[in-house]
Amino acid sequence: MHKMPEKGRAWSDLRDEMIDRGSGDAKWRDGKTAVYVFNAGEDVAAVQKEAYTLYMSENGLGPLAFPSLKQMEEEVVGMGLSLLHAPEGAHGTITSGGTDSITMAVKAARDFARAERGLDGPANLVAPFSAHPAFDKAAALMDIEMRRVPVGTDLLSDVDAMAEATDERTIMLVGSAPSFPYGLIDHIEALGDLAGKRNLWLHVDACVGGYIAPFVRMNGAPIPPFDFEVVGVQSMSADLHKYGYCAKGASTVLFRSEDLHRYMVFDCSDWPGGRMITPTLAGTRPGGAISAAWAVMNFLGIEGYRHKHGLVTKARSAVEEGVSKLGFEVLGEPQLGIVAFTHKEADVYTVYRNMYRKGWFTSLTTDPPALHLMLSPFHHEVVDVYLADLQASLAEAGSEKTEGFEARYS
Ligand SMILES: *Cc1c(COP(=O)(O)O)cnc(C)c1O
Repeated sequence: MHKMPEKGRAWSDLRDEMIDRGSGDAKWRDGKTAVYVFNAGEDVAAVQKEAYTLYMSENGLGPLAFPSLKQMEEEVVGMGLSLLHAPEGAHGTITSGGTDSITMAVKAARDFARAERGLDGPANLVAPFSAHPAFDKAAALMDIEMRRVPVGTDLLSDVDAMAEATDERTIMLVGSAPSFPYGLIDHIEALGDLAGKRNLWLHVDACVGGYIAPFVRMNGAPIPPFDFEVVGVQSMSADLHKYGYCAKGASTVLFRSEDLHRYMVFDCSDWPGGRMITPTLAGTRPGGAISAAWAVMNFLGIEGYRHKHGLVTKARSAVEEGVSKLGFEVLGEPQLGIVAFTHKEADVYTVYRNMYRKGWFTSLTTDPPALHLMLSPFHHEVVDVYLADLQASLAEAGSEKTEGFEARYS
């Protein structure tokens, strides 16, 4: 067990040690990481840092004490709502991340079902196989049955099968825009029709797509309707700390109306500390995550996001073209920043391991086994290096097989 030192140490010492400790971490600053980190460039990083520290000590829990944060939150949420075609009267909140947003949306849907649809007893949630495990976590916390439905051959939500999985105890239908494993946007319009027909709550998980898809569409890509434009969509999750390029610890959870949003908020006065109203899972909410989000969004504006995301889709197209030439097969037709690709002959886990040895830290899928990249603007500068390393890794792999998912890091 690590013990606290008797005496404190100089900050300059600690700082050096901390930087040194990072030397074994994934090399994301060189562009060799395509998971966990979004590298939008030095300019955005500088804004994130300074804006975060300006409000680092303030607390989003106290809107009366910090009207500045409340105003920044309202403006950030407003920007999210308007980008995602929310109608007048729509409402939202900044949360600590996608998992928080999803958990709170599930809570709202459950409380809505109890209050307005007479749900009593067990509840269930119907989602495609490709939906994020945050739904399982939320379901586990609230004792809700999670019903995962296999995806179709297009790797998208199988809406007929999902319809069959619903019943009178279904509190939520889920679609992803896009799903994390495949990077593909589910059949949101068809899910919206189903939600309308069965009077179900449809949540669109746009955690990884909400702050890129609108701009990619503005840049000319034919992105299908996936947001509040689809009438059945009651709530959405969209992460600021992913393609919003904001500091970590920031997502938005958005609702079609204030009436629906109200079911999310927790209001408690049964303790000696006075009434406490908390919209999200957190109590204390870091002011810096809110202020950094506000600053980055205003720093980039629509023009800035269109430019940064243009670099992402350019990198993705170059990857698609390059890997296809090497005999890989891209899963579906990705339109945003995630691309996954499989190989008919080579064992992709062995290729992954070889890439890892060359300093690449990326991701994988299991069904089908595929290499997976979540691209940042910076990646368009290193696509050629990636493809050259991939070609070498593929050649080195030969007919070798790497057993098990874990073997990839050896
Ligand atoms: C990242 C992600 C989440 C979870 O978000 P966290 O911020 O990691 O909690 C949920 N859904 C999708 C599609 C995601 O990509």
